[in-house]
Amino acid sequence: MKNIAVLDQNTIDKIAAGEVIERPASIVKELVENAIDAGANAITVEIKEGGISFIRITDNGEGIETSQVPLAFLRHATSKISKVEDLLNVASLGFRGEALSSIAAVCQVELITKTAGNLMGCRYLIEGGTEKGMDEIGAPEGTTFLVRNIFYNTPARKKFLKSPMTEAGYISDLMERMALSHPEIAFKFINNNQTKLHTSGNTNLKDIIYGIYGRDIAANLVEIHVEDEDVSIDGFIGKPVISRGNRNYENYFINGRYIKSSIIAKAIEDGYKTFMMQHKYPFTALQFTVDGRILDINVHPTKMELRFADGQKMYQMVYHAVKQGLSHREMIPEVSVKD
Ligand code: ADP
Ligand code: MG
Repeated sequence: MKNIAVLDQNTIDKIAAGEVIERPASIVKELVENAIDAGANAITVEIKEGGISFIRITDNGEGIETSQVPLAFLRHATSKISKVEDLLNVASLGFRGEALSSIAAVCQVELITKTAGNLMGCRYLIEGGTEKGMDEIGAPEGTTFLVRNIFYNTPARKKFLKSPMTEAGYISDLMERMALSHPEIAFKFINNNQTKLHTSGNTNLKDIIYGIYGRDIAANLVEIHVEDEDVSIDGFIGKPVISRGNRNYENYFINGRYIKSSIIAKAIEDGYKTFMMQHKYPFTALQFTVDGRILDINVHPTKMELRFADGQKMYQMVYHAVKQGLSHREMIPEVSVKD
């Protein structure tokens, strides 16, 4: 007869890590979200080998109190919610308390962090879920995570990673979305010692669109602003002339979170319908600010689908915003000045 036994914590953490950490881009996403939640207004991400061997994320946020550092790496340990009712109105990007424990379970991690109240910072080493050291260190206010060798202890998972170039591409896309969704934060992304993205944090979304997509797109945007009692939508949509052959340029963010929503995607595309050729998709960069009470974000950690209490209302609002934005303006291309 076989015995039933509860798995040891290390094995449980490795299994759970698989839910959150699929590839280097998942680590970058979790750590950048933590930096945003920590109130940082400057975040630098450096990677080598597509993030497989090296990821370093530096923020100037509030830091972690030395005595709390080991706790941060425990599974389901979070400072962001404390009771079930808090789930109804989550203001932060994180709240599950799973990222750090998952990353530490499958990587070699070095953390340096300092809060404003402490004279000295803390350096903490953890790999494969096992603490490797903790000491005092001089450091600027904020947090740096150095994450090396993803899946070094789970070779079966490592095999599923793609080439460094492909993995770097996923991270680059992610960084662009992070920059678009947070124009108030100065982002820097460095791949193999080359700066690939640098935003100023001056809150100007158009500057960021220009930096990422270039002059042609930035010169052909229509500004959108609509609001009602619990939703506001701000940002830009592209004139039909800059439409593309795929959906990769449809960006929308809800409360600072990059998400996918079939309702919003349909509303945008329907709004464009009479202005656009078939099989063409628009450029959009729209920020939705939505009252947390009409949202459910507590879906699977890696799924980006999000649920609305009243999907039909959301559809109508987006559809009309797009349609009106397009019909109120001359849709011929602006004359672009060559320099
Ligand atoms: P969650 O983000 O869901 O709370 P994480 O595992 O990502 O869970 O992080 C655990 C905790 O560690 C956070 O709740 C936060 O208190 C702290 N933390 C993580 N990263 C940072 C950071 N860059 N700056 C300050 N605190 C951080
Ligand atoms: Mg987190």
